[in-house]
Amino acid sequence: MSDLTGRVALVTGGSRGIGAAIALRLAADGADVAITYLTADDRAAAVVAAIERTGRRGLALRADSADTAAVARAVDDTAARLGRLDVLVNNAGVFPYGPFEEVGRDELDRVLAIHVGAAFTAAQAASRHMGPGGRIISIGSNLAERAGQPGIALYSMSKAALTGLSRGLAHDLGPRGITVNVVHPGSTDTDMNPADGPDADAQRARTALGAFQTADDVAATVAHLAGEGGRTITGAALLVDSGANA
Ligand code: NDP
Repeated sequence: MSDLTGRVALVTGGSRGIGAAIALRLAADGADVAITYLTADDRAAAVVAAIERTGRRGLALRADSADTAAVARAVDDTAARLGRLDVLVNNAGVFPYGPFEEVGRDELDRVLAIHVGAAFTAAQAASRHMGPGGRIISIGSNLAERAGQPGIALYSMSKAALTGLSRGLAHDLGPRGITVNVVHPGSTDTDMNPADGPDADAQRARTALGAFQTADDVAATVAHLAGEGGRTITGAALLVDSGANA
């Protein structure tokens, strides 16, 4: 476990799936944790209650990641209401899938806003609050590094941008002692990609370990980066994909 006692984290899209697992893991490691979400008020409240059961403070903020002003506000609200900000996890995401020819301008703009614009804006806002030891971690996808199938060019493109963002920001923020990384999960059992879904066996077969992973597996890597173990890891893109891209 990382010792995150006294630290404050914000996890975007923390009401379900990987984001909820990250929020709970960071709280279990000692951090106070704010989450954002889009629609699931009840799920967000349940995550906050679970954070508070660990003895830490929790906060749920409704903020559409497609709205960069709302994202920046959520960052500032976290710092104002929890007193500081040490760890930002850009996790909120969607999975656009389908024929490349049918992707319209609105969908293109919305996906890029959620995956890229929000991560950039949140990092910008968070960096104003962070001191040495600050951590910015984005959740990409192993599909950013190896698409391997048709129908996911938009998703793959939008997640690949997070690698460039992290590499660039590592240099911008390194002199201030802030690290910036991207974690690229593979097939992870969530609402977005259930382990019993129609494509699950094919995904399982592509992994070296022959298994779907859990959201807790991804959260463990994020917790490592957020803690002392991540002190000298920056500008890195870490695959947590059960060897699917190996
Ligand atoms: P889920 O669909 O299970 O959860 C998505 C979360 O993001 C929810 O908390 C949801 O909020 C929130 N969210 C979605 N859109 C927005 C938005 N516009 N503004 C704010 N919050 C939003 O997804 P996962 O947990 O599976 O995915 C989390 C991240 O991991 C995503 O970025 C995804 O691309 C990535 N990923 C997932 C993989 C997988 O196999 N599951 C593999 C690789 C990467 P609400 O509950 O309110 O809807």
